Amino acid sequence: MLTALEAFRRLKEGNLRFTGSMTGDAELQSPRRTKLSKATEPFAIILGCSDARVPAEIVFDQGLGDLFVIRVAGNIVSPSQVGSVEFAAERMGTRLVVVLGHTQCGAIQATIEVLENPNASASRNLLSIVDRVRPSVEALLETDLRNDPAALVGHAVRANIRASADHLRHGSEILEQLTQKNGLLVVGAEYSLESGIVDFFDGLPEAG
Ligand SMILES: [Zn+2]
Repeated sequence: MLTALEAFRRLKEGNLRFTGSMTGDAELQSPRRTKLSKATEPFAIILGCSDARVPAEIVFDQGLGDLFVIRVAGNIVSPSQVGSVEFAAERMGTRLVVVLGHTQCGAIQATIEVLENPNASASRNLLSIVDRVRPSVEALLETDLRNDPAALVGHAVRANIRASADHLRHGSEILEQLTQKNGLLVVGAEYSLESGIVDFFDGLPEAG
């Protein structure tokens, strides 16, 4: 693992390449960057997990200004996430919201561990994430899935994505209004770390 200073240098160098001071693809983005500094109209809002293996812009092959991305461990929905989605949907007119979870999510695994070992120590801050995931996992722990760790995580990841999408659909008057009157759509999707494929499994209209 890099030290903090080494990591800092790597970021700094990357930004230099990006701004075109050194050579690199980033130069191609310059005209667009200049235009985007004046206005932004992202075509989709992505609420994804912070996991470093699931950067929304890369897995959807999008560039500067295309996506309004909110990332938090476990793609949970708390008031600040709802507010961020409201902000983009209301101010920028973005009409698609994707809750993007992923296979083998560490936040889901941590929640299962906490529920299975209530005495294990976890910080209050981490527990605030676990508590948001908990309802999706608790119901599953009462089924035979509790004896099959891999299947349990798989089902819990999807249940948690569905719960976050439902929370966005029904936990905000602004988003409900935009859904009814302006065609806002909230869908749930799972990114496979193994295949790279995103499966939009929740909330897409039939014809989609
Ligand atoms: Zn994750």
